[in-house]
Amino acid sequence: MIWTISQFPELDHLAPDQRAALLKNLPRWTYWVIVARSLALAFLVSGISISVTLRSFPPEVLIVMHVLLVALVATAYYLSQMRDLRRLMRNEIANGFRGQRPPFCFSCGYDLRASGTPLCPECGRETKTF
Ligand SMILES: [Zn+2]
Repeated sequence: MIWTISQFPELDHLAPDQRAALLKNLPRWTYWVIVARSLALAFLVSGISISVTLRSFPPEVLIVMHVLLVALVATAYYLSQMRDLRRLMRNEIANGFRGQRPPFCFSCGYDLRASGTPLCPECGRETKTF
């Protein structure tokens, strides 16, 4: 799982100036917005779920359920937002290589700089020229 933007494997294949230019487009508050959205959704989902089951369980159980549900929903939504962000970043990188063969596989992230084949040696997918 990829928890931060700097862990995106696509970035490892970019030159330092390309990487810096790409990351410069991300606002500094990106993580805070993603975390805030994840927590807001998690508390909303958990609050609704707990209020529906309020009379069915003792308070100690409800607290544990609330904490677990918030953690689960917040983590799932955070990772989903990171996946969407990664997709946007891949599109941005692909636009930067328009008309050229990208230096890595967009499917698995394999480094294609030394490979001249039309298929990725790692995953077998076609290496696209955008
Ligand atoms: Zn591949």
